[in-house]
This record gives sequence, C-alpha cells and structure tokens, in this order.
Amino acid sequence: MLTQNSEMRQIGAWNWSLPAWAGRLADGRTFNTCPSAGVCAQACYARHGTYTWPVVRAKHHANLAFVLDDLSAWETAMVTELSAAKFHGAWIRIHDSGDFFSDAYLQAWLRICLARPGTNFYAYSKEVERFRRLVEASPPPNFLWVFSYGGTQDSSLNPDTDRVADVFPDEAAIAKAGWASQEASDLLAVLGPHLVGIPANRIPAYLKRLAGRRFSEWQAEVDAERAARGRRHQLRLVVDNTQHADAA
Ligand code: SF4
Repeated sequence: MLTQNSEMRQIGAWNWSLPAWAGRLADGRTFNTCPSAGVCAQACYARHGTYTWPVVRAKHHANLAFVLDDLSAWETAMVTELSAAKFHGAWIRIHDSGDFFSDAYLQAWLRICLARPGTNFYAYSKEVERFRRLVEASPPPNFLWVFSYGGTQDSSLNPDTDRVADVFPDEAAIAKAGWASQEASDLLAVLGPHLVGIPANRIPAYLKRLAGRRFSEWQAEVDAERAARGRRHQLRLVVDNTQHADAA
C-alpha cells in the first residue's frame, strides 16, 4: 500500500496516498478526502499530471475503498506492512494527497503510529479542529505534522505557535517573507523552521489562478468575500422584515 517515488527515495521516505479532494469511486460512492480544502483545491498538485493517470488513480481509489470498506482490516494490513525491515527508521508521509477526512480514520493512523514506534510518520493537514481535539494533547512521539494554509480553517491557525506551511508564488517570495523553503527535502516541513514555504508548482493554469499571491492570502480574500456576502444577506433580511412590519 505504501509507495516510493524518486523524490521520496532520496530522503528515505514512503508515501500513503488517497485520491485528492472530491470524486466518485467505481461503485458509485462519492467521497471527499479533503473536507477542509479551500482555495488549494483550485490549484491542487494532486489533481494534475501523473496523479490523473488511470493506473495511479485506480491505486488511490483502491486505497480509499479499503479504508471505507473495512477500516479495522485496513489498519491491521497497514501495521503488518510496516513490520517489514525496510520501514524501520524510515519516514512515512501520510497522504501524498488527501487528508484526515474523519475522526475514525485519523484515530486509526494514531494507533498505527503507536504500533510501529521504530518508524517515523509525518503529514501536512488542513484538519485543524480535528487535530486540536484528537492529537495535540497527546500525539504519538513518532508523529510530526504541519498545518497547511489554503483551507477553510485557515483563520484558526496561529503562525506564532503552530507549525504552518504556505504555498508561495516562487522561492524569491519565500525568502522575502523570511520563511524557510522545504524544496531541498520534504522532511524540512516537519524538521526545519516552523514557518514552511512551498514554491508553487509551475503549472501555468494554477499560477494564473494564484496571481502572485500566497495560498493564505488567496484564502483570506475568499473568506472576506464570503463574510461580506453574509453581511449583505443579513442586512437584506433586516430591511425586508422592517418593510414588512411597516406595511403591517
Ligand atoms: S488538501 Fe491537498 S490534496 Fe486536498 S485538495 Fe488541497 S492541495 Fe489537494
């Protein structure tokens, strides 16, 4: 179930992947593996390129189907797979794509980490509230994570106290902001300085949408527009009710 591309091989890490964001399995079931995704879904690296190849997509769908069909059996299979000698001392990146989409699924991963203390685990996540509630008080000692901007829970993040990752237009923008790039090794996201800069993928359509902003800035704009729409809606209701009362 765990895979390793050349980038991961260089740093001694293995990937576990789910299909990114929302979709439909072959049996018709719909899913959303990134329930707190925000603007990131509009520039998602995992909805592009090799991730869309049928053989890769089928593998990710099979991973998700196993989790959804029998979480307990999947957990046992993962613990068994991780007993191989090659995983001792190695790093597992939980989610090359996808996120901790439910409490039960996150709790299964926490148990897997505890069951394999000789292996290191790390993850990016936008599930801020779920981590605050289920992980932060007592995380497994071999599990590190970084919260990533571009999600619907961005406003709950505190870059003074949380380890956070943001996507920037390029390396120069990361340096200018005084953040630390993880480009040299993905492990820097959890082992380097706590403000983690990720240079945007050079995908023209995504760069156009990013429009020179950071994910955090883009998401803040979207959140502000949504809040303004909500205020306008409330105001219209008040005006309508007042007119209705006057007419009565
Ligand atoms: S959380 Fe990650 S995998 Fe999910 S939609 Fe956002 S960028 Fe893609």
